[in-house]
Amino acid sequence: MSNLISKKIRGFRDILPIESKKFLYIENVIHRIAPLFNVQQIRLPALESIDLFKRSIGETSDIVTKEMYSFEDRNNDILCMIPEGTASCVRLALENNLIYDRGPKKQRLYYIAPMFRHERPQKGRYRQFTQFGAEFFGDTSYTNDIDLILLITKIFEKLNLLDIKLSINTIGTAVDRKKYSQELVTYFHSCSEELSDAQHDTLSKNPMRLLDSKDPKLKSIIASAPLISGFLNEESQANFDTIKEKLDRLKIPFIHDPKLVRGLDYYNDLVFEWKTNKLGSQDAVCAGGRYDNLSETIGGKPVPSVGFAMGLDRIVELVDYESNVLIIGLAVISNSNDESYKILNSLRKIDLTFNLIHMDDNKSLSKQIKQADKSNCDILIIVGNDEISNNTFTVKHLKCDRKDQNIPFGQLIDLITEYKK
Ligand code: ATP
Ligand code: MG
Repeated sequence: MSNLISKKIRGFRDILPIESKKFLYIENVIHRIAPLFNVQQIRLPALESIDLFKRSIGETSDIVTKEMYSFEDRNNDILCMIPEGTASCVRLALENNLIYDRGPKKQRLYYIAPMFRHERPQKGRYRQFTQFGAEFFGDTSYTNDIDLILLITKIFEKLNLLDIKLSINTIGTAVDRKKYSQELVTYFHSCSEELSDAQHDTLSKNPMRLLDSKDPKLKSIIASAPLISGFLNEESQANFDTIKEKLDRLKIPFIHDPKLVRGLDYYNDLVFEWKTNKLGSQDAVCAGGRYDNLSETIGGKPVPSVGFAMGLDRIVELVDYESNVLIIGLAVISNSNDESYKILNSLRKIDLTFNLIHMDDNKSLSKQIKQADKSNCDILIIVGNDEISNNTFTVKHLKCDRKDQNIPFGQLIDLITEYKK
């Protein structure tokens, strides 16, 4: 190992089988629930033009200023590994005419894709991570916002993640935010000596982002900062009140956090975030909101939209999952190893999910049984010369007190189906 010419790159991680199984389990839940909300899967390219993110996320955002993996390729185009999915998804939807045809078209899309951000690596924060995101296009109605929240709730429920807390807020329109930002500038200037140079810079470029700061020194200052609620237009306020009312009626618990803002420029009205207290400081597992102006910002026609992204690496840490796939061992005792291939082939034709482990044919039966035990097999299928001539097999039940059975090959499917009931 020490002679490896290269080790994995800082901030990137190797996902081993145990963890990969958890990813697969979560992804399967997502694929099962998405159609219930009429959301269809897309696959995003890993590279986009850098301008897409500069325009959409905002030139002054953390992602654009310090976190993008961008480079000039052989054609001198400046490309970037995607740091988030929403802008790519909107680009894809517009470019393929999925969301506009003489007017906005309703369309619901989702993706599960790796994202790349050059952040300081720590537990729960990687430079490549996987996001599941969904975007609902073409509808301004709050019912879409609610449906999106229901989709996320359903997925958390299925994964048995019951103590993830939802916070919501409204950030109104660009006009509201402009007025509010001016107020924030005045406020933060009054405690100007407490701010670092970088925070002064944020204050001059996008004051609302200071509210999102994780700097403990700013905590009490942020706590006393003015709230956006005093600057909201009536329509946004009424829409938000309706959303809160509906969530109450649907019995979806939430906290209204009037200081919740998002680190990306494109949001308006509803913003939300799900947090857990089980992961230490990297506690956000899902975040999103409405972004009615993004499609125009990147050069398309106006298409109202709402969406979210969920960090699956953090969800994997939270789920309690043990695979219950049946593990079948095969022990063949025969002079001809062609027999093994024949039997393996017929077992692999069975259209059921199980893990099949072929024991070492050249070992004695007792050694093969030991090997099956070590490999955690539930059952061992033993095929010797007698079985071959009778077209039967012997089943050894390794994890329960049942006697060995000898059954015709044709009944194997019944045995497997019955086994884990
Ligand atoms: P954070 O507050 O943790 O920096 P964020 O606001 O940058 O999150 P978003 O851009 O909203 O995150 O992404 C949505 C989700 O993706 C987050 O809630 C989190 O679960 C996950 N995520 C974001 N960045 C990372 C990362 N570097 N490593 C692992 N997961 C991440
Ligand atoms: Mg971040």
